[in-house]
Amino acid sequence: MKLKNKVAIITGSTSGIGLGMAKGLAAEGATIVLNGFGDSQEIENNRKSIEEMGVECIYNGADMTKPDEIRAMVTEAKEKFGHVDIVVNNAGIQTVSPVEDFPEEKWEAIIAINLSSAFYTSRAVVPMMKEQGWGRIINLASAHGLVASPFKSAYVAAKHGMVGFTKSIALELAEENITVNAICPGYVHTPLVDGQIADTAKARGISEDAVVKDVLLKLQATKKFVTVEQLAEMAVFLCSDAAENITGTSLAVDGGWTAQ
Ligand code: NAD
Repeated sequence: MKLKNKVAIITGSTSGIGLGMAKGLAAEGATIVLNGFGDSQEIENNRKSIEEMGVECIYNGADMTKPDEIRAMVTEAKEKFGHVDIVVNNAGIQTVSPVEDFPEEKWEAIIAINLSSAFYTSRAVVPMMKEQGWGRIINLASAHGLVASPFKSAYVAAKHGMVGFTKSIALELAEENITVNAICPGYVHTPLVDGQIADTAKARGISEDAVVKDVLLKLQATKKFVTVEQLAEMAVFLCSDAAENITGTSLAVDGGWTAQ
């Protein structure tokens, strides 16, 4: 149990990669703060199934577009558990559209949820991490934090921003025993990807099968979707002592996509 006595907040953990990260960290003994939207019964079932792994798990429904709610989530975790040691900034949304038609409110929401929320969580937890002399901040960027695709202007901008933010605060915190890294996955089959298959088919005028084969997995050299479990293992490793000298980096888990 590498993470016994550690408390981890994972934003956007009611689904997909975030839920997988929560389970992966819980399996190593971490106390978990779940966050995100969704059906309340389903969220409660996920919370209970994490508690059945032998750790404490609470749910906080903070909206990642609202700095006050983000601060309140960190405060709740601190009041309940005494400390926060790990933050996984994972909440994210996507919209696929030509730039001239890109809905303005979607641009604002993507920048807020996929980028600015990481600033607000970090701002809230760093004083605590400095005081305790240990911390791990893991930012879910994307292969789209390293390279671009058309029709994803807001997402690519936010994810490139996440990589830059990661580097900057990693340097600030390097001597505090706090590491900050970005994980850059290729395509993972989650509800977020399911949603964009139809949109991409429309934007490019091709079938949904063609989107999976010729767009999503075209550059993923392994021709396999990355799995949630593989990303959770990466997060556990970044939280381990073996990773204390890994900071400010962007770890591609993308089936060879960005090697090209
Ligand atoms: P998902 O849609 O399955 O999950 C997204 C989570 O974010 C959900 O829990 C949702 O409730 C939450 N969320 C959305 N808006 C929120 C808000 N305003 N406040 C709080 N929570 C909110 O998506 P996913 O595929 O698991 O993606 C997770 C992260 O991984 C995202 O940042 C995404 O950009 C990144 N990513 C995904 C892929 C992929 O192929 N799926 C690839 C690279 C990076």
